[in-house]
Amino acid sequence: MTETYDVIVIGAGPAGISAALYCKKEGLKVLLVDKKEKGKIGDKVCGEAISKKTSHQVSEKLNIESPQKNEINAEIEVLVLRTSLPVDHIILPAIGYMINRHLYGQRLLDVALQREIPLLSETKVLRSLVKENKVIGVVVRNNKNEEIELYSSLIIDCSGILAIVRTGLPKDFEPLLNKKLTKADYASCYREIIELEENHDLKGKIVLQYEEDIPEPGYIWFFADGEKKLNCGTGFIKEGKHKDKGVKSVYFKAMEKYYPKGTYKTIDGRGGCVPIRPPLWNAVAPGLIIVGDAAYHTDPLTAEGHGPAMVAGCFAGEIATTAVKKKSFETENLWKYNELVFSDFGSDHARSRILTIALEKMGPKRLEFLLKRRVIKQADLTSEGILKKRTILSYLGIALRCFPRYSLLLLMKRAISISKSVNVLCKNYPQSPKNFPEWRDEMEKLYQQI
Ligand SMILES: Cc1cc2nc3c(=O)[nH]c(=O)nc-3n(C[C@H](O)[C@H](O)[C@H](O)COP(=O)(O)OP(=O)(O)OC[C@H]3O[C@@H](n4cnc5c(N)ncnc54)[C@H](O)[C@@H]3O)c2cc1C
Repeated sequence: MTETYDVIVIGAGPAGISAALYCKKEGLKVLLVDKKEKGKIGDKVCGEAISKKTSHQVSEKLNIESPQKNEINAEIEVLVLRTSLPVDHIILPAIGYMINRHLYGQRLLDVALQREIPLLSETKVLRSLVKENKVIGVVVRNNKNEEIELYSSLIIDCSGILAIVRTGLPKDFEPLLNKKLTKADYASCYREIIELEENHDLKGKIVLQYEEDIPEPGYIWFFADGEKKLNCGTGFIKEGKHKDKGVKSVYFKAMEKYYPKGTYKTIDGRGGCVPIRPPLWNAVAPGLIIVGDAAYHTDPLTAEGHGPAMVAGCFAGEIATTAVKKKSFETENLWKYNELVFSDFGSDHARSRILTIALEKMGPKRLEFLLKRRVIKQADLTSEGILKKRTILSYLGIALRCFPRYSLLLLMKRAISISKSVNVLCKNYPQSPKNFPEWRDEMEKLYQQI
């Protein structure tokens, strides 16, 4: 007889491991499935910068050690948004680690295996199984090239950007779930880990360097990964006029300005995709919860997605536990997952997307103008800064400094006002799916305004 599970988790990245560990801790019968061979799990193209706070919070929740010595390449302290101006105008706190994702990912996997979570590696999920309007399992192809059906009460889709379960569902299945993946949803990236001949001067820093020639979101990143080591890369949405632009050539052109060829050794160079849109407004359907990149849980400005994936994995585990106990897997019963996401990082990410759109519309030159004239200050770009109340006097001061480029002021004003409305909507996430369509329409209208 075919074995059935309470929960099958698709993907053993940070989202999947965290969801599986949570489910196991609560006594659920859980299975982890990944298409990679066991030793490659956790190896992913990444900026590898993670937040200390988030990683410690999740570690505590899951009773695991946060990143250990050999998994940490460097400590980071600040995020710098840099333009061609000689002074860094925007330096935001970003306490965290540069990690070796492969090593850390392998250790997380070892913890899962020690806790007796069964793993089917080299097992690719091909499609979901849907019966009577509920996801009841998945069809996989294993390393012997056999197609097998696996059944569970609940599937947690943590399969990364391609979201194999979500994007393969029948069109008429759960109309409240967005089943599409379009080119505008992610940036295609190229990333290198390099070793310079000399020490760099970026110790403790992760730098987003804005460049005129790089399409949205418009920067090349340099993350200090050790005294001589840097994690660098760029990426953009390959759509419209940028459809045929090569990411690698844009990257090497930008690199030439800062670290010309011949001044460094490439340790690793690979392409990848990172979500660049706000989180899925709804990430549940009958028998299904979607987590991590599969649900666009990455910060659209900084690409930070490792921590959020683990946080959301815990939320999914929490909701799965209640659902299994109640034996109820309808959208309504899983709905609280959305509320948890939007009351945590979801709201910040949704606003971050507004900021990236505004920055893109502005372009580096006009951003420099605003920075030089102190129309935009560092504090304005923090969550609190965007949401703070402004007096008429402060607006007057800004208006004077912005002279004569009032269109920029209007763009900023609109971005701030939309951000505030997005924040209010996230805080008032509908408690039931019944009120969701109206909420979603209102949210999408806000995005159209910018
Ligand atoms: C260039 C780049 C830079 C980034 N920089 C940072 C950064 O500095 N900091 C940060 O926090 N985040 C960063 N991110 C984002 C971060 O890597 C992701 O947000 C994070 O890995 C998401 O975790 P996940 O578990 O959702 O997905 P993933 O890590 O992608 O894991 C998905 C897993 O699912 C498996 N899988 C996929 N399809 C199937 C299938 N059909 N069947 C079975 N298994 C399947 C895969 O093998 C994989 O193991 C970056 C991403 C990119 C591309």
